[in-house]
Amino acid sequence: ATPTALMVGTGRGAQLGVLVKGPEVLETTRRVDTIVLDKTGTVTTGEMTVESVTVADGDAGEQLCRDRVLIAAAAVEAGSEHPIGTAIVVGAAQRSSAPLPPVSGFRASEGSGVVGLVDGVRVEVTSPRRLEDALPERLSRAVDGAHRTGSTAVVVSFDGRAVGVVVVGDRIKPSSAAAIAEFRRMGLTPVLLTGDNAGAAGHVARAVGIDRVIAEVSPADKVSAIEDLQSQGHSVAMAGDGINDAGALAQADLGLAMGTGTDVAIQASDLTVVSGDLWAVVDAIRLARRTLATIK
Ligand code: ADP
Ligand code: MG
Repeated sequence: ATPTALMVGTGRGAQLGVLVKGPEVLETTRRVDTIVLDKTGTVTTGEMTVESVTVADGDAGEQLCRDRVLIAAAAVEAGSEHPIGTAIVVGAAQRSSAPLPPVSGFRASEGSGVVGLVDGVRVEVTSPRRLEDALPERLSRAVDGAHRTGSTAVVVSFDGRAVGVVVVGDRIKPSSAAAIAEFRRMGLTPVLLTGDNAGAAGHVARAVGIDRVIAEVSPADKVSAIEDLQSQGHSVAMAGDGINDAGALAQADLGLAMGTGTDVAIQASDLTVVSGDLWAVVDAIRLARRTLATIK
């Protein structure tokens, strides 16, 4: 391959809204046979909104209690970059004009949730995965209901006691289904990879035409999932946007970051899709193949 032709390819890539780290990336792009897609923010918009808030005890003070749970959750989530965090902060602002209380000791665990101290109370907002059997009846019903409809539920705990469930919903990007159909025509097998629950993952997968789903995985397990595919002899492209995807993007033969995502994801990737649209990934792979065909 002549360096000049490769540089033409990368220059054209920039015109298509694709930033390529180096000319060698084009060669890898040509080889890939599997495309692993992160769900939230990659196949979906990642612009989540709060759909409901359920509290553990239903009584006369329920509305007040719901607002209290949501505001405490929002206070902690204000320090998070995750789409769930943004949704909860916006949701709280829409439901109450009260300013968010200050938080100390904020900590985010990628792929699982956030914790912080609010008014002396340890407030946690986490995936229901680890604490499902400890949930009061009302809350576990809210979680199950969310999973059945393809939404995402997180549990709010005060000092280790589950007090509420916040359900957030996402929308699939308009171009995702068509781009995934095109990946198939190009000989790439699509796989959906997510830390979210299997119900939400299944809904999205069916809607966009993906058969293979790996759900409820931690960021470390996302890396292992890529390694597994590689050890089966596949050359793997991975598209993602979150901090939680950075390890998997680095492990993949070709890491594709959505330009709308986090800087950490962009740094870990070989190629950045400026618009955050999967259709641009299709264009990038086509371009790489065409450029290399010209050189040969
Ligand atoms: P995805 O692969 O869909 O981007 P993540 O790996 O980031 O998902 O997160 C997996 C799960 O961890 C989420 O579905 C949620 O239950 C929980 N989680 C992650 N970040 C947060 C957060 N900031 N607040 C609450 N829950 C979170
Ligand atoms: Mg994501």
